[in-house]
Amino acid sequence: MTAQGGLRVGGLTPLTTIDFPGRLAAVVFCQGCAWRCGYCQNSTLLEAGTPAALRWDDVLAFLGNRQGLLDGVVFSGGEPTLQTHLPAAIEQVRALGFEVGLHTAGMYPARLARLLPRLDWVGLDIKAPLRTYDAVTGTTGGGAKARESLDLLLAAGVPFECRTTWHPGLFPMSALEELADELAARGVTHWTVQCCRIDGRPAVAAQPPELRRLAVRFKEFHWRA
Ligand code: SF4
Repeated sequence: MTAQGGLRVGGLTPLTTIDFPGRLAAVVFCQGCAWRCGYCQNSTLLEAGTPAALRWDDVLAFLGNRQGLLDGVVFSGGEPTLQTHLPAAIEQVRALGFEVGLHTAGMYPARLARLLPRLDWVGLDIKAPLRTYDAVTGTTGGGAKARESLDLLLAAGVPFECRTTWHPGLFPMSALEELADELAARGVTHWTVQCCRIDGRPAVAAQPPELRRLAVRFKEFHWRA
């Protein structure tokens, strides 16, 4: 089966050890995102109509040459679930024998639900406490959608981690603590707090000591500068 017209790909990382836990993986960066987070590091990927940097068939050919060398492929973005070609692209990657990971902000829960049976791992952005979501994402109603996606993931039993990008200018530590409480109460076991980068540098010099208090609520907690 060919994804007609193919997935619009804005970039490719041929090898990563950190984007798909426990796997050697390639990362496919999908073009387009409906949200406009002020800290987005992938601004060239935001416009859905930007011509693809790579042809999907060429990406598939590259992956075909990596069979036996890579364990998995991660679809990242942008927002991969924006694209209607994603399900077919996932099938093609699975047919090559790769495990499939997905990075998503959970903005399309119904689409995520249809993908879940074909996914081996998900990194789900939970960007903020609910009341702060619209300000962080530059859109409306995203917090409820992200939480719907979280509930779907929990119900499906697909391995996943939640990720929150943070610095004190976005929302205060007290709100981050509130978010930690909410995620732990929902049943999230893996949480990564990623420090915002400003002009290429972490906005916070070192891991804030308060995060140690939050970390104990989770089986796995990571701070990423
Ligand atoms: S959801 Fe992700 S890709 Fe979209 S604007 Fe926010 S950070 Fe960027």
